[in-house]
Amino acid sequence: MVTTGVHKSERPGFNPPRRSTPPRSKVPEGPFLLKTVTMKQLEKHVQNIEIQEAQTQSVYLKAWNAIFDDIEHIYKEASTGYLRTSTLTNKTKARVQKCKAETLLNSKQRYILNMKADPFCDLCIHADRGKVVGNVTHTLGACPEGNLRILTCQRHDTAVRIIHTAIDDGNKGALKILTDLGKFQQHQQLQQDQTEYTRQTLPTYLFQEQPPDACKKRPDIVLLYCLRANDDATSPINTQQLIQFKKKILLLEVSYTFLSGMRKREQEKLTKYEDTLSELRSAGWDPELHVIILGTLGEIPTKVMDVLDKFGVTGVRAEQTIRDLHLNAINWMDKCIDKEIELNKWDTCYQFFRRKRKREK
Ligand SMILES: [Zn+2]
Repeated sequence: MVTTGVHKSERPGFNPPRRSTPPRSKVPEGPFLLKTVTMKQLEKHVQNIEIQEAQTQSVYLKAWNAIFDDIEHIYKEASTGYLRTSTLTNKTKARVQKCKAETLLNSKQRYILNMKADPFCDLCIHADRGKVVGNVTHTLGACPEGNLRILTCQRHDTAVRIIHTAIDDGNKGALKILTDLGKFQQHQQLQQDQTEYTRQTLPTYLFQEQPPDACKKRPDIVLLYCLRANDDATSPINTQQLIQFKKKILLLEVSYTFLSGMRKREQEKLTKYEDTLSELRSAGWDPELHVIILGTLGEIPTKVMDVLDKFGVTGVRAEQTIRDLHLNAINWMDKCIDKEIELNKWDTCYQFFRRKRKREK
C-alpha cells in the first residue's frame, strides 16, 4: 500500500502500483505515514494535535503543546482560525493540515513515496547550496532560492504593514512611528531615491555620537514617545514622569518561522538588539524592545496580545490584527508551496503514477 496523503477521490481511477523494490531502510516510518490517508483521517489527526489529545511524539506536537512560565506558548484559538474562516478554499485549509501532519507532497514526501531519488531540495542542489532536506520548514522560510525568498520577504512586510496600521489607529500618543518595509525592496535592490539613511528606523540623531553598528540595525517598527497636547492638560503627571515618558522608545521586531523554531528565533532577535539598546540608553533614552515571532502555518504566540497592548492596540482591534496576521501566514504559505511546485515542474501525485504505469507497460 502506498502512502499518498491525498484523498482517493482527488485521484480518479488511481490504483496504487505494487512496490517492486523493498522499502528503503532510511524512510522515516511514522505510524501515520504507513497507511493510505483519507482526508477525513487527516482532519481527525490534525484536530487531535490541535486539541492536545494525540500522543506527544512529533516535533510539531511538542511545540504546539509547549508551556513556558506556566503559560501555553501558542494561542490555540487564534492559531486555528483558518478552520473557521470562509475566505480560504478547502484546498488551502487541507494544505495547512497536510503541512502540520507532514503529508504534504514536497521533496521529502516524494522520496518516501518513491517519486524522487532523494529527499533533498533540488532548487538548492542546482544552485550548489548542498543537500538540504526539502520539508515544509525549508519551503516556508529556509530555502534561499530567489523566487521563494521574495515571497517570504513580502510575507514579512505585509505583517509589518498590518501591525503598523493597527498601531496608527490606536497609538497611545507616539510622536512618530517609523516603519521599515524595506526587506522586500532590499531584496529587489530597488534602492531608488530611498537611501540607507532615510530607510533607517533608528535615525542617527537618536544616538550620542554616531555608533556605527547600533544605529544601522533596523527594527521593523519604532515608536518615539511624547504626550499629546490634550493629554498634558488632563493627566496628573509630574515633570519627572513627563520627561521619563517622552524619553520612551518602543522597538518592535516581527518575524515568521516554523513553529518549532519560534522560541529560538525570539532569543536571536533579543540578542541582536542588545548593543542597540545599550547605545540608546547611554544617549539618554529609555528603550524597550518587543518581539513578535509568528508561525509560518498561522501559529500565534500567546504573548502577542500583551505586545500589541504595549503599542496601544487593544480589544477588538487587537483581535482583528491577530486574525489578519494568522491569515497572512496562511496566504503566503499557499503562494510559497505553489511557487515550489512551479519551480520544480513537479507532477501531481496522479500524473506521476499514471506516467509510471505507462513506462512499466
Ligand atoms: Zn532549497
